[in-house]
Amino acid sequence: MFGPDCACLVVVGAQWGDEGKGKLVDVLAESADLVVRYQGGANAGHTVVIGDEQFILQQIPSGILHPGTSCVVGNGVVLDPQTFFEELDRLHAKGIATDGRILVSDRAHLVLPYHKLLDQAGEKSQKIGTTGRGIGPTYEDKYGRRGLRVGDLRNQDQTRKLLVERLERANALLEMLGATERASLDQHTALLQRIAPRLLPLTTDTGLVVDRAIKAGQRVLMEGAQGALLDVDHGTYPFVTSSNTTAGGAAVGAGIGPTAIDAVLGVVKAYTTRVGNGPLPTEARDERGAELRRLGGEFGAVTGRARRCGWFDATVVRYAARVNGLSGLAVTKLDVLDSFAEIPVGTAYQIDGDPCEEFPAGVELLERARPVYQSLAGWKRSTGEARTLADLPREARVYLDRLEQLAGVPIRYVSVGTRRDQIIAV
Ligand code: GDP
Repeated sequence: MFGPDCACLVVVGAQWGDEGKGKLVDVLAESADLVVRYQGGANAGHTVVIGDEQFILQQIPSGILHPGTSCVVGNGVVLDPQTFFEELDRLHAKGIATDGRILVSDRAHLVLPYHKLLDQAGEKSQKIGTTGRGIGPTYEDKYGRRGLRVGDLRNQDQTRKLLVERLERANALLEMLGATERASLDQHTALLQRIAPRLLPLTTDTGLVVDRAIKAGQRVLMEGAQGALLDVDHGTYPFVTSSNTTAGGAAVGAGIGPTAIDAVLGVVKAYTTRVGNGPLPTEARDERGAELRRLGGEFGAVTGRARRCGWFDATVVRYAARVNGLSGLAVTKLDVLDSFAEIPVGTAYQIDGDPCEEFPAGVELLERARPVYQSLAGWKRSTGEARTLADLPREARVYLDRLEQLAGVPIRYVSVGTRRDQIIAV
């Protein structure tokens, strides 16, 4: 999608996450100079397959797998420094050189062990289905104006004073939540002392870096994590993540203005999945749901949790197109549908007997939404070798045309397998 009119492209998930953004970003990063992560943290798990190697990237942009590309962890990300360096070390062990290719925003907030304790204790009562990695409590501290930022590592004495206060508060909260564990000041101080010498050399005003890259005519790819329906404002609240996953979050979280963004690509699976709790109107509760899970390998990349599976939900994607301002769609995992004789597509909802074409705000309404299905013929043939639309079986093309029509956004890519080359540019 990069070209004369598009130098700054945002890639977002347009369902409930796990749409295959990692693969799309990997493919697009080949033509990008800079790849930027702008929200979320180590709860994301982007899977990229190169040859026989599988890379699971949590906090480092997928662009790191292309030697000519630089990567930025933007201010909107909450950074877990321990897992960040574990991830870097894993990349080094696989022969990926990262020196000089990754920068971290001095404004990004730090996820610390106490955030994880709070997350796990909170989940016992709130049951959102979080990954327990401290992301939510870190964003709570950020908006509560008591977070610790990467740049604070420059002043360890001051940071230690702040930590004393934070840990007192965290331990009081843990007690209130009935948790037995407590956060230790020594453990936190030792952690910060250990990571500072490694993290500070990578730390800078990354908004400035992105701005300069755009002004110099470089190609910038912004990589979203999770999906539109998990956005804290637009998602199925309260079963959402704690950040703005939608394209508006890209400007805020990368530290540039929205006018710098040229296009937004929404990634959707050819069907629908969701992990964790909350409504999923087109969930297939029969053996076909289990079949989708098996064929699509629908288990969380980070947590191993089984994903709930169902049919393409056009109400969701139309809504995601609106709140993201999508310029194009990338449909992934078309090959997973290869063996189905018939494929239902949810075109709209009925709620309490009334037709509903717009995605409702409240989960109680959504729980009562009954999808209106149109059944399309399957193709019963393998699509993994298709490299152009013309290579696809006719029924698969009809299926894609219908998705495009229902979503109201042109399809720009179709992915037909995990490998880099298994993609059709439309
Ligand atoms: P992300 O978080 O959006 O990047 O998604 P995940 O990485 O969690 O999930 C995508 C999974 O689907 C990964 O295991 C990918 O290798 C795989 N994948 C991506 N595109 C395709 C595709 O077109 N077909 C198949 N079969 N698998 C795909």
